[in-house]
Amino acid sequence: MPDLDRFSYAIMGWYHSHPGHTCFMSKTDLSTQRVMFTQPYHCALVIDPVNREIEAFKLLGEGCVTVPFAVVDCKMPRTRRLRYKAGWEPSRTGI
Ligand SMILES: [Zn+2]
Repeated sequence: MPDLDRFSYAIMGWYHSHPGHTCFMSKTDLSTQRVMFTQPYHCALVIDPVNREIEAFKLLGEGCVTVPFAVVDCKMPRTRRLRYKAGWEPSRTGI
C-alpha cells in the first residue's frame, strides 16, 4: 500500500454529499473514483444529510457496489468509538 510506505496513515477514499438527492455514484463520481482512487481498498462515501442517508461504494467492473462501513467518533472513549450504519445519527456526528 503506497500510502503506508510514506505516511503513518492510509487514505481510504473520499466523500462528498448529495443533499436531498439520495446516495449514489454519478458518472462523474465513478470517473473520479477510477482516476484518483486506484487501490482495491479505496472507497467513496456519499452523504445525503437531508434524507439522513450515508452509503459507501467500491468500483466493480464498469459500475460500483455498496460496501459496509463504520462511523468513528474520535472524541468518544475508545470503547464507544464505533457506531455502525444502523445506529448512525447525523446530529451527533456533526455531519
Ligand atoms: Zn456524487
